[in-house]
Amino acid sequence: MKSKNTRKIEKIKKKHGFLAIIAFLLTCAVATMMLSYFVYSLFYYLLQEKLTSEYEAISYMERIYEQSLADDYEGDVHSVLAEDGREYIIRDASGKLLVGDENNTCSEEGEPVLIDGSSDKVELFVDKAYPFVAVDNKGEATVLLLELINFIDGHKHDSELFLLLDDSDIYSDYDNVLFFKSDSYLRIPVWMGMPVGDGPETFIGKGFIYIRMSDVSIMIITTLVLGLLFFIIFMLFLVNMVGNIKNQKRSMKLFFMDLATGGHNRMWYIYRGEALLKKKSSASYQYAVVSAQSVKYNTFCMCHSVSEGEAVIRKVSDCIAKHINRKEVFAHESPENFMLLLRIRDQEELMGRLNALISDLEHIDNSHTFTYHLGVAVLMPPRDANGKILRRRYVDLEQDYNNACIARNTLNGKEDSGIAFFDLKLVEERRWHDQVEEHCREALQKQEFVVYYQPKYDPVSRMMKGTEALIRWQSPEFGFVPPGKFIPIFEHNGFITEIDHYMLEHVAMDQKKWLDEGIECVPISVNISRAHFIEADLAEQIRDTVDKTGAPRNLIEIELTESAFFDDKYALIKTISKLKEYGFAVSMDDFGSGYSSLNSLKDMPLDILKLDAEFFRGEGQGERGKIVVSETIKLARSLNMRTVAEGVEVKEQVDFLAEQGCDMIQGFYYAKPMPADEYVKKLTEKIADK
Ligand code: C2E
Ligand code: MG
Ligand code: MG
Repeated sequence: MKSKNTRKIEKIKKKHGFLAIIAFLLTCAVATMMLSYFVYSLFYYLLQEKLTSEYEAISYMERIYEQSLADDYEGDVHSVLAEDGREYIIRDASGKLLVGDENNTCSEEGEPVLIDGSSDKVELFVDKAYPFVAVDNKGEATVLLLELINFIDGHKHDSELFLLLDDSDIYSDYDNVLFFKSDSYLRIPVWMGMPVGDGPETFIGKGFIYIRMSDVSIMIITTLVLGLLFFIIFMLFLVNMVGNIKNQKRSMKLFFMDLATGGHNRMWYIYRGEALLKKKSSASYQYAVVSAQSVKYNTFCMCHSVSEGEAVIRKVSDCIAKHINRKEVFAHESPENFMLLLRIRDQEELMGRLNALISDLEHIDNSHTFTYHLGVAVLMPPRDANGKILRRRYVDLEQDYNNACIARNTLNGKEDSGIAFFDLKLVEERRWHDQVEEHCREALQKQEFVVYYQPKYDPVSRMMKGTEALIRWQSPEFGFVPPGKFIPIFEHNGFITEIDHYMLEHVAMDQKKWLDEGIECVPISVNISRAHFIEADLAEQIRDTVDKTGAPRNLIEIELTESAFFDDKYALIKTISKLKEYGFAVSMDDFGSGYSSLNSLKDMPLDILKLDAEFFRGEGQGERGKIVVSETIKLARSLNMRTVAEGVEVKEQVDFLAEQGCDMIQGFYYAKPMPADEYVKKLTEKIADK
């Protein structure tokens, strides 16, 4: 089966060529039939008229002979018949000659013919010397035109054939066609036989079909003129058809052409690629669909110009062309994207070729270094139950290319060149992504999102000093879902702003409730995503949400993720300042992860620095890691900020952090995130178990 697009292209290709050929063949057939019918009718008319008069004369002779057979007939009938001057013979039922010259030119076998105005049986015998009259399957006599013309040319002086003919009467302007000046006649002999009475004998008389030579000329000329006319019409159609096919080829070329590179476009890739994939698969080869993207193409165009960008893309296209072999295909899909279909033996060869391609592409321009992201979907050939390779029955290159793009998209955000492979995990991820997006609004309405609390303890006094609110999704469909599985999706689709408000409101309501119950509360930090900071009135929104619940502002802390500090710096400073003004503490989450935000520390009026959990995992725990942690705590203190260490799991880390003067520890060592009722117990206990 072919994909929808391939079927569409094939339909366009077929339609034009096929229609032109059909039109041409139909015209040829109709014209040939018309010409043949015209010539046939003309000769038939002439022949019928002549045959009728000859029939009358011969049947008269037959009647005389028939009468002679009567008993009372006296005299010699043959001398009577000879007076007519017409040759005749008489044969018996077996064809034996009863009367006549042995050397007569009458053929042996006759054919029954229809003669106008006669109901009697007439047999036509061809003259062996001049066999130009034939009988067709309808029993009609016709002249064999071509044989006649050829014969005339070779027998111009044959007085048997021509009457009143001399040399000056005839001339030939070219080999086969003759024109006659005078009223000479062409005399075609035919033999007509009829039964003698009811007896076994057949009387066969020789007749002549006299055709005026000027009539023959007119017929030949008319036939030639008509033939020429039809030939011109054929030629016009042929030229039109060839033109149509050429035009179609030209438009197909344009249809498959990429204007930016002059090479091929996406349609070509799909059409040609699917054709390649449908060919018989071989055990030693497999195909890989590659989506290649020039990472900073848009930025390059912005800094330079689109035409300079296009010049680079043309170089990229030329460079890729050098890496493409026979039975492979590539095309320019969109400004920064190329599509490739590579034929490879194994993964090793594929990696070698892709790395060589990236390395060449990175150096196509002397003054700039470009980087490329390559997404790859390897297409395994289909196999039967015994592992034998089968021909691909269904090919959907669009789908495979989409898979390669999904793999490539996993590299988004990385600046260096890279290669990513598609596997089914990505499909699962995509499916999950769609399911989350589909269910999130309903889940929010049904309050399926719940708040978990993770306390923060002072490592010296072991007293609870704060708490972080962390979201969990208790879904009837998907079960218990941790935030890592849906927060990035919400950050991507913007739903995170609603989630953050939901969390803030629930935390504030909980704080208010516990306060009302007489429980001594600690500040709870709420994560606010960076996507939220686009809103200029974020600080006011937070203030109003908290105030509405009646919870005191100083018991709510706002955590900004580190990546938030890369957005609009001045807007951030403004929002942080306003939050502080309204009485909220503000902390920087995950400090030290990803890109360093040391610089932002100097401008942001933050209260708390949360050291990323990475500091306390794996290699982060070495001597150098300790120095960084200890210096960061000192730096924060000098800037009047408190510190919280996240992800602390072991006692040694707690002791070290206590020594360094870290204010709070949030980690599994003390407590994991827990539901509200469990947290309330911890809150009332105040002191850590360990
Ligand atoms: P985060 O804000 O840095 O939260 C700390 C994460 O570290 C939590 O993961 C917590 O369970 C985990 N953690 C704390 N101590 C330890 C430890 O000792 N060992 C280990 N292995 N992990 C520890 P969680 O709850 O899965 O949250 C992940 C992230 O999801 C959060 O990182 C935060 O960025 C985001 N998130 C969670 N809730 C919300 C929310 O309500 N709003 C927004 N915008 N983001 C949220
Ligand atoms: Mg946090
Ligand atoms: Mg964190």
